[in-house]
Amino acid sequence: MFLNVQELLLRNLPIAEVYAPGVIDYFDAHLRQVSDLVVTGIAELRQATMEIVVRGRLEVLMEADCDRCLEAARFPISLDFDLIYRPLPDTMPEEVVLSPEETEIAFYRGLGIELEDVVREQVLLALPMRRLCHPECRGICPVCGENRNVVNCQCQSQWVDDRWAVLRNFVR
Ligand SMILES: [Zn+2]
Ligand SMILES: [Zn+2]
Repeated sequence: MFLNVQELLLRNLPIAEVYAPGVIDYFDAHLRQVSDLVVTGIAELRQATMEIVVRGRLEVLMEADCDRCLEAARFPISLDFDLIYRPLPDTMPEEVVLSPEETEIAFYRGLGIELEDVVREQVLLALPMRRLCHPECRGICPVCGENRNVVNCQCQSQWVDDRWAVLRNFVR
């Protein structure tokens, strides 16, 4: 759905979109959308400044490879958003120098904003920095390569034993 300023000059645009998995590209091979993404809301134009205001709510279930064990980690996302996009003149260079208080502001160029871009950014921002299948995920054993959430390999204790052996030698 394209939020077109020409249309927004005439009326507010209600948003009610459903994106099936695969429609939105997240540009991340380790990240998958596994449910429909449902977004509802409204887009408005502040005519004095030509800023586009996009408000709404989105829900989706995302899946990523766990950072530690590489198994699937699931992230249900449900969030409200209230965003302002300021017009960027076509003549302005790509690299715009922003004052510190402006760094939170988003921009649009040309005729408007693609809702998919808005949604993608909100989903990526909502995901945690570390994507874990479980906060206590034990990861993959660096010695034998087994998933330590599944297999209770003895490599860890062996390593600890070795460490004690070194310490014993040191004390001796
Ligand atoms: Zn894990
Ligand atoms: Zn092991």
